[in-house]
Amino acid sequence: MNIPLFFPTPQQDTIAQLIEYCEARSLRAFMLIADRNTYPILGQAVEQALLARGWDVKKVVFEQDEVVPDETFLVQALVQADQVERMYLAVGSGTLTDITRFVSHRTRRPFLSLPTAPSVDGFTSPSASLVLGRIKKTVISQPPQAVFAHLPVLADAPQAMIAAGFGDILGKAIALADWKLGALLWDEPYSAEIAARVRATLDACLKAVDEIGAASVSGVEKLMFALFDSGMCMLDFGNSRPAAGAEHYMSHFLEMKLLKEGRRAALHGAKVALCSMYVSDLYIRFRQIDRAEAVQRLQASVLPDAQADMERIRTVYGEIADSLIIEQAPFLQMTPAGYEALKQRILDHWDELQDLAAQVPHPPTFADLLLRVGGAVTPQALNLLPGEVELALHHSHLFRNRFTICKLGRILGLEPGL
Ligand SMILES: [Zn+2]
Repeated sequence: MNIPLFFPTPQQDTIAQLIEYCEARSLRAFMLIADRNTYPILGQAVEQALLARGWDVKKVVFEQDEVVPDETFLVQALVQADQVERMYLAVGSGTLTDITRFVSHRTRRPFLSLPTAPSVDGFTSPSASLVLGRIKKTVISQPPQAVFAHLPVLADAPQAMIAAGFGDILGKAIALADWKLGALLWDEPYSAEIAARVRATLDACLKAVDEIGAASVSGVEKLMFALFDSGMCMLDFGNSRPAAGAEHYMSHFLEMKLLKEGRRAALHGAKVALCSMYVSDLYIRFRQIDRAEAVQRLQASVLPDAQADMERIRTVYGEIADSLIIEQAPFLQMTPAGYEALKQRILDHWDELQDLAAQVPHPPTFADLLLRVGGAVTPQALNLLPGEVELALHHSHLFRNRFTICKLGRILGLEPGL
């Protein structure tokens, strides 16, 4: 798939590029969606530029303190839809983009993304992350037609949002290792080419860590490019597997818990980065086992009781348990023979598994990188209670039918509670 990403050039800023883009495609009517933070920093200038051409612009500017992609906000945007063939413009970060993505798709209109913070790699995603009935749901929608990266605005974003974007990319260190684990042990579809592209986004951000920490225009450009490319990898692969592993499932777990308890959730990338440190610790414990010890541990390992697992899913996940039980079916329905075969596969691939674990940075490396971009490195900094991240580590592997170090750690008895 080809979604153009526009960066400003010395000759042309992003708004001029947007006008040229619309001119070339005879786009004359727009629905701009922003909130009270993103409208003054970018939305207004875009609106004025479009109006100056004599074009038709309708807008929705959310006035609430916090924008949530839930029924209230979706309907606020939806009621403004009319019969005119408008191009939607999402002026904002992940949440506003998801609202626009969903509403434009359901009204059969395309949209353009104008991010105001380099906070997440989901701008080009085909699905919207929504909150429906206070439950987080991923709903198929559409990717944008193009992304316009207004660098001065992006570089001016709150440092916490820049750090969150960096954190979302940092999580790829875990996601890539988990993906390969899934390919080796669980026959998950894998693409070496896409894995190499995701690795390149990670490497580019690691190299630019201090520039990103300083929020320089060049640092933010590199970060934005990495976020865009990571999103394109998911789009090209057809699902989020290349860019999401245990660290993302933990983050989703925490987000769902906070939503249910009516607590304010920290930024997605901030949670992903923190969770990555905990998963990294599990990878280290895996590395400390040699083959002989693995043989012993596997001999002692028994097939988890499916009834007990289903009970656990019901207790932990409540109203969404039924859909998770269906998702987990390949694990829940594993036979003793299948479990023995899986254990054998772990031994057959032992050296490869150890090699890929060796590529995962250690928790202090994660912490050092996060501190350099001004990110959070403790649960308290993200308003999480003691023990909550551990809960996520223990239970979030029941969330998806994907193989991660948490699944492997469970078989090897690396962490009680998995
Ligand atoms: Zn993410």
